[in-house]
Amino acid sequence: MKPQFYFKKLVIFIFTLMISLAFGQKKFKLILDAGHGGHDAGTNRKYSDLGHIKEKDIALKITLMVGKMLEKNKDFKVIYTRKTDVYPTLGERTDLANNSKADLFVSIHCNAAARRSAHGTETFVQGPDQNKTNLEVAKRENAVIFLDKKDRKRFANYNPNSPESLIALKIQQSKYLQKSLILGGLLENNFTKKDGRFSRGVRQKNLHVLRLNAMPSVLIETGFISNKEDAKYLISYKGQKEVAKSIYNAIVDYKKTLDRKKGKTNKKKKKKKVERKLSNDYRILIKTTRTRFNLNSPNFRGLKYILPIKEGKFYKYYYGVTNYDSRKKINLETAKNAGFRNAYAVGFVPNQYLSSGYYRIEIAVTQKRLSSKSPILSKLKNIKRHKLNGRHYYTYGKANTLEKAILLQKKLERMGIKNTIIEKVKK
Ligand SMILES: [Zn+2]
Repeated sequence: MKPQFYFKKLVIFIFTLMISLAFGQKKFKLILDAGHGGHDAGTNRKYSDLGHIKEKDIALKITLMVGKMLEKNKDFKVIYTRKTDVYPTLGERTDLANNSKADLFVSIHCNAAARRSAHGTETFVQGPDQNKTNLEVAKRENAVIFLDKKDRKRFANYNPNSPESLIALKIQQSKYLQKSLILGGLLENNFTKKDGRFSRGVRQKNLHVLRLNAMPSVLIETGFISNKEDAKYLISYKGQKEVAKSIYNAIVDYKKTLDRKKGKTNKKKKKKKVERKLSNDYRILIKTTRTRFNLNSPNFRGLKYILPIKEGKFYKYYYGVTNYDSRKKINLETAKNAGFRNAYAVGFVPNQYLSSGYYRIEIAVTQKRLSSKSPILSKLKNIKRHKLNGRHYYTYGKANTLEKAILLQKKLERMGIKNTIIEKVKK
């Protein structure tokens, strides 16, 4: 062959590669889990005419059929927990799913019941209690990977034990559940409408294999081995093919549904970007008390961004600040979730001058009078002191708006004078 021919071929190859890189979408990764395997046969029944039917065999056959169909579809990447008669532990199945950051986990099984008349398909999704376990595990394992990009942005200062992160995880868990329910519905719909099967529906249940997955997950019971009709169907090539095709169709529809939703939320997001600012700033009042707390006190239950403002004898502790309604709601939810059930949002007019009175910074409150050589008094001049009910109150500065007082407080912080409190002084 002529060298030109090679060159032509090479050019075509590079061109195709570039096009596929430019237009190629990220593949949808899914775990296909054939239930049981190896020493674990799953459920099984012996029939004189049908022979010894084992769940692990049927599950594997259907799984491989589903996989083959999906592999032909360029939108999908299939990962199998097993392709032969071996037994991966539940931990291995879950680890594989989580480590490969799959988009979906589909576990395929067969059912059995003591009652021989029980028949039909059903799909299980994570139960409500299971979500709690998931949450605990995610918390414990500092599982930043469990958050999607959007939520990670929203909860930038991720600390698995902070109430902010707990909310993020809860949002994530309920998203998995919602998505699992969508797929469950599609699956059962296909089984009944296309294959004429009887559906026992989509159910929530605590199942070990779904419990620790950090992604939408379903477990499909493709029929009852203990029911003669179902058993005949499940061991037949026609039956297995139909079940596999229905699972395949449901997964493809599921992806389409998500893509459509994504398109919609992207549009919404664009609209959301123009969410109008509120005219007031909102802070969440979480606590009003006579006690003066340090900002890292456990009394704030992990909440950060606390602003204490003293009014008269009371210290009011506010959490967060925003002039967006959406953020205000999140902040309130976060505070309530942290255990401040009576928290509520308080509006502050920005840069409002106090008509009577002013703000000052309460530097410290002590039983004993501070020595002039104390760190605070030697760092800062013009600190005022007054004695009230046997305590010494050290205060500093004067500001006519809260914003200026906060700036003053920040300045002190940079000087190393921490845990100060803004005090609203009425004339
Ligand atoms: Zn099973």
